[in-house]
Amino acid sequence: MEVYLDHNATTPVRKEVYNAMVPFLKEKFGNPSSLHFAGKIVRKEIERARESIASSLSVTDDEIFFTSGGTEADNLALCGVAFSKYGEKRKKIVISAIEHHAVLETAEMLEKAGFIVEKIPVNSKGIIDLEEFEKIIDDKTLLVSVMFANNELGTVQPVKEIAEISKRYGAIVHTDIVQAFGKIPVNLKTLGVDMASVSAHKIYGPKGTGAIFIKKGLKIKSLFHGGNQEKKIRPGTENPAGIVGFGVAAEIAVKELDSDVLLKIEYLRERLKKSITEKIPYIIINGGEPVVPNTLNVSFAFIEGETLITMLDKKGIAVSTGSACSSQNLEPSHVLLATGLSHELAHGSIRFSLGKDNTEEEIDYTVESLVNCVELVRQMSPLYEDFLKSGKSFEEYLREVNNGRV
Ligand code: PLP
Repeated sequence: MEVYLDHNATTPVRKEVYNAMVPFLKEKFGNPSSLHFAGKIVRKEIERARESIASSLSVTDDEIFFTSGGTEADNLALCGVAFSKYGEKRKKIVISAIEHHAVLETAEMLEKAGFIVEKIPVNSKGIIDLEEFEKIIDDKTLLVSVMFANNELGTVQPVKEIAEISKRYGAIVHTDIVQAFGKIPVNLKTLGVDMASVSAHKIYGPKGTGAIFIKKGLKIKSLFHGGNQEKKIRPGTENPAGIVGFGVAAEIAVKELDSDVLLKIEYLRERLKKSITEKIPYIIINGGEPVVPNTLNVSFAFIEGETLITMLDKKGIAVSTGSACSSQNLEPSHVLLATGLSHELAHGSIRFSLGKDNTEEEIDYTVESLVNCVELVRQMSPLYEDFLKSGKSFEEYLREVNNGRV
């Protein structure tokens, strides 16, 4: 059996998306900037995709600019504001401590370029502390960037409140909605943000395609030069197959928010959580509510996450230790550390992210395999042996190794 539980890393392309894309790799090959029939037919479909994405986010189509994905949109949002005229007067950039690397590392680069970067801490549930945010923001703040849903924990951040507070200080607000779009309703107008990043491959669309929402009137600086495409915000010949696929994926994703697809995913996530909690001792469920319906993050004490992933992989189960981009990295996740988890427990964490095609049978097989693998790894662990010999309760153990957090 093959069980794919890594939908926050990427999702398979939907049949409808694939079918919509194929003509743009075959007969509809024109350059959308060309003035002849071959270009015009492609242009028309790109604009249709733009309308579909704009309406699925409750914004207007002239506020959507296509990019190569979420990473590029995040870079464009932060650098585009920092290097614009707004960045000449204000120098402070505020991000959350649990942002995706695309925001985190861009902010670090801007810090080296002379901006002041401050991070809003999160509580032990992985939710931003608004009181702390109020202490950090001031009238020198240029930009606030807070993700809507976290990729590792699934926790949903109070972006509407963040935007309201930021506006009082005249700061520009960006949100990365890559992991929220298609999982919870996203209305960018009522959220009150100025910019948002989105990616197609997390919603059963193609990889290498995304978009940035830039509110009408906001003038950011482009990072690239050399063409008039996307109103010079993102010059370069468009990726028509990707964009058209993204449009179809967005349309279906929004329709599914009102169907029972997400309820089924949530039911399966809860089944997974309940079975793990009942059948495997010495675990911690990371993150709290509000949370997107598909994500579950668990720390297994006395275990290396990487070992567990390899063993599960051999059984045909795909899970991950953190964000896809950092899974090659042996540093523990900055997100889990920000919630106060110790290095040791962060290393033993697994992210399960479910999708529309998962079944009850797959979940039950995953739990059964997990029970076996965890037992096997723990039997070989000297740390586990010491713990058993010590006669301590798990709570006592956690108090010692988990920064006092039980
Ligand atoms: N932002 C978040 C929250 C993500 O989870 C990801 C991908 O994992 C990205 C940005 C990057 O998106 P992309 O893979 O389209 O560059």
